[in-house]
Amino acid sequence: MVLSTVNLTLIEELAAQALALEDLTPQQGLQLLQCNDPQSWELIKQYGDRLRQKLVGETVTYVVNRNINFTNICEQHCNFCAFRRDDGQAGAYWLNDSEIFNKTKDAVAQGATEICLQGGLNPQAKINGSSLAYYVNLVETIKGQFPQLHLHGFSPQEIQFIARQDDLTYGEVLMALKSAGLDSLPGTAAEVLVDRVRRIICPEKIDSQTWLEIIGLAHRHGLPTTSTLMAGHIETPEEIITHLNRLRQRQQTSLARGYAASITEFILLPFVGEKAPPSLRKRVGRDQPDLNQALQIMAIARLYLGKWIVNHQPSWVKLGLTGATTALAWGCNDLGGTLMEEHITTMAGAKGGTCLTATQLQNAIIAMGRPHQQRTTLYKHLKTN
Ligand code: SF4
Repeated sequence: MVLSTVNLTLIEELAAQALALEDLTPQQGLQLLQCNDPQSWELIKQYGDRLRQKLVGETVTYVVNRNINFTNICEQHCNFCAFRRDDGQAGAYWLNDSEIFNKTKDAVAQGATEICLQGGLNPQAKINGSSLAYYVNLVETIKGQFPQLHLHGFSPQEIQFIARQDDLTYGEVLMALKSAGLDSLPGTAAEVLVDRVRRIICPEKIDSQTWLEIIGLAHRHGLPTTSTLMAGHIETPEEIITHLNRLRQRQQTSLARGYAASITEFILLPFVGEKAPPSLRKRVGRDQPDLNQALQIMAIARLYLGKWIVNHQPSWVKLGLTGATTALAWGCNDLGGTLMEEHITTMAGAKGGTCLTATQLQNAIIAMGRPHQQRTTLYKHLKTN
């Protein structure tokens, strides 16, 4: 009981600091994350919600978008990935231009304002021996016919893959894709920005510094990015705070340098292990995300990222719509996108589904007693409800 009282006083002090828009230190973030009693968590939830209210108000936003994962053929073997296939393996696929065009056309007919384009790292995906030419063609296939769409595509890992294949700099790749029509980058492949963790769960992926470098370069070249954290596996509380701190520092640097773009949102991606390769699955010991843990991390992320990253989104694919809606009371202000088709997490065993309509998202928001608002990828409100 005494410990709980101490905790509550500490939480009140740290939350007051966050509400005054003063940054928490990593040690203070860790103190919050290490609280382990229900009373503490109720208080952290309330303060996360209050800071959300102060920074972005009551409205919950969503985007009408479609995911296109153009291939699952991948040269890497991340330990959590059930999506990847070798070329020729059962279940391997690689969409051609006409399939990508048709998916985009269908998305536009359903009111999409955004296409999110990501895929495996396929060394055969080249035009005239150039990986960049293949990716530029992907962008032009979509933007040539539908210039009004926002094209959100290619993680920092994909940017590094293209640069490596063609012996180019990251900046050259980013500028060429932007010239072709790319509008922003997903901040995926971040997983946990701590190399100890990366060496275990995704040893072939870019390291933390390279991820941060490419995100910074994207901002410098005028391409906004999102940011993500894949949590709930082998990472420690200290490593979660290190990750959040690195995102905050990255954002502070981009803003301090007056770059034309920055991080637009933070998305928590809880680990789904059901179909993951057995070694990591066994080590984590759980197939589906722990909702309580995810909610706690969302509230801490809201308090820790403060005024620097103001839009926070739970993943309905990973948590289910009910879990994601619950996160709206833990500091989140956005329900993400309709997606129309989702493969990567669903193949990992996620139960949230592959597609939601705008009406389903709106109804979930209404059920929380909050106003809903369709937005663009970059958080411009589209319609008055
Ligand atoms: S997570 Fe991405 S890079 Fe890693 S194996 Fe899967 S598709 Fe390839």
